[in-house]
Amino acid sequence: MDIVLFPDPRLRAKNAPVEVFDQELADLSRAMFEVMYRTSGVGLAAPQVGVNRRLLVYNPEGEPTQPEGEAVLCNPKILWKAKEQESEEEGCLSFPEVNAKVLRPLAVSIEAQDLGGKTFTLNLDGWESRIFLHEFDHLDGILFIDRFSPSDKSRVRPILRDLEADFKQTLADS
Ligand SMILES: [Zn+2]
Repeated sequence: MDIVLFPDPRLRAKNAPVEVFDQELADLSRAMFEVMYRTSGVGLAAPQVGVNRRLLVYNPEGEPTQPEGEAVLCNPKILWKAKEQESEEEGCLSFPEVNAKVLRPLAVSIEAQDLGGKTFTLNLDGWESRIFLHEFDHLDGILFIDRFSPSDKSRVRPILRDLEADFKQTLADS
């Protein structure tokens, strides 16, 4: 399993709800954690591994030795967002070398289903809320570059052009 890089169209494609809660889903989420740890990430959405389904995983600890931080969310929904927002630096496994500040709500209440299909709610704040909101955006085909300030958009444009050139080359080679 590999990370899908910008501008692969699967990052902008529609993501179907998870409807079957079986071993394959559990295996997929486990494989996503493994790729996430291998690439030093703290969160990963299914479209980032080329699977267009509404599934995301994260672990704010970013360490397989701290599995108590792991969360698997199927079909997440936002029930409430804090009005207060904060701007903090983010990266994304689908955008190597790209970092910039992104403005996001400080806290959220969410509802999701677990690997057994059971619905649960969570109140998130701080770093965990930010990770969730970044990954949740992926499920709607929204990428963090969409939320960059105009000056950060211009700053990262050369890196995005390189990624686009690499993607075209990969297509040409395949
Ligand atoms: Zn991302």
